[in-house]
Amino acid sequence: MPLLSKHQLSKSTFMYGCQCPKRLWLHKFMPQVRDEMSEGQAAIFQQGTDVGMLARELFPGGVDASPATNYDYQQSVADTARYMQEGHSVIYEAAFQFEGILCAIDIMVKQNEKWVAYEVKSSTKVKPTFVQDASLQYHVITQSGIALSDIAIVHLNNEYVRQGPLDMQALFSISSIWNEVIELQDFITEKIVELKKVLKLKKAPDIEMGAHCNNPYACDFMGFCSEGIEVEEPDYGEVNIDQDALKEFVGELEYPLYFMDFETWMAAVPEYDGHWPYRSVPFQFSVHKQAHPNAAVEHFDYLAEGPESSQRDFAEQLMAVLGEQGSIVVYNIGFEKTRIRELICDFPHWEDALNTLNDRLVDLMRPFRSKHYYLPEMQGSYSIKKVLPALVPSLSYEHLTINNGGDASSIFYNLRKEEDAAKVKEIRAALREYCGLDTWAMVKILEKINEKLG
Ligand code: SF4
Repeated sequence: MPLLSKHQLSKSTFMYGCQCPKRLWLHKFMPQVRDEMSEGQAAIFQQGTDVGMLARELFPGGVDASPATNYDYQQSVADTARYMQEGHSVIYEAAFQFEGILCAIDIMVKQNEKWVAYEVKSSTKVKPTFVQDASLQYHVITQSGIALSDIAIVHLNNEYVRQGPLDMQALFSISSIWNEVIELQDFITEKIVELKKVLKLKKAPDIEMGAHCNNPYACDFMGFCSEGIEVEEPDYGEVNIDQDALKEFVGELEYPLYFMDFETWMAAVPEYDGHWPYRSVPFQFSVHKQAHPNAAVEHFDYLAEGPESSQRDFAEQLMAVLGEQGSIVVYNIGFEKTRIRELICDFPHWEDALNTLNDRLVDLMRPFRSKHYYLPEMQGSYSIKKVLPALVPSLSYEHLTINNGGDASSIFYNLRKEEDAAKVKEIRAALREYCGLDTWAMVKILEKINEKLG
């Protein structure tokens, strides 16, 4: 989105203001205090841009009104008006302005002498927030004198499974949101007045952090807003250790134990046959194996060379490491179980062997979800990111170069573009370290459960 003067609104800044007036103000007047974008967030942003470009193929032969630089938005508005006058019927990044508010719409198409506005989203469904931002677009486009006959969201179709070349008509769905947009017009007019007042404030509005900081999107000023806030000791309940329930859980485990974790990559636009938008494709696993109680723990792992080779090798190596007997301990069983089921669809000749793996899965999250083992330091959560530091404070993800699954996924996906061999080696080592810690953490957590049983 082009940059605007500090006192103007755009579609993005309007949406920031709808989420939180302070976010809008900080974005305009103190952008330097914004949180750094993580690898995972940058990848999501890039995927959105790529999907937008691809959707243009649904309406080919258009003219592009994108600004040459972020400062040329006035040129974009002028180009759009000129293209309309010249009789072009498809315009990409068409820009409009009305009373200091600038909006660009991904694709404008003239059909039967009337214009239809298409906004492209890389999501697989129409979210309420899309209706809100399209309502602002409708306001600006129509108030600037262009009559619309429809306004629609172009989004990805999650039922599309790629076979051969991309089928653009099947990949995208088009949903008209005309009625919802018309209904929101009074709200838009009132909100514009309110947000323009925010832009005249000399200092940021005094707004406390709350649920709105993550709704509808994670705000990028959380670091700034949370500075100086005293973190109170969590008080989420009492210590609870249910010995009988823990004994029952441990009694289900059969040696050898395999502590297992997967990492996956995903692409908005499926790149290979059998893939669908945002399919989670496994590329890495870590397994710690303990042959019998008190035996030394061995480590095995696998990291695919690249996305194209990730499934077959992954499945083969996994089956070889896990053998045919023993419990396979995971944290949050649904994720691994679903990935294994998907591998069965890819490789039906391995169905029996892969199904056996699923039958052997045991969820280490269970005792924590049911609060059979609970410490206040878990802060009401049973996520491994909270359970681990509560039980094993010496183990932490903080020192790792890669310390969350979202970053691991996008770093692996982008590794194919990295030409520096030393850098590739370094990144692959960091990926292995991260995934390895996930399963080592499970080894230590089970140790802690056993300690409580004496
Ligand atoms: S972190 Fe929360 S309170 Fe602070 S600007 Fe963002 S949304 Fe507003």
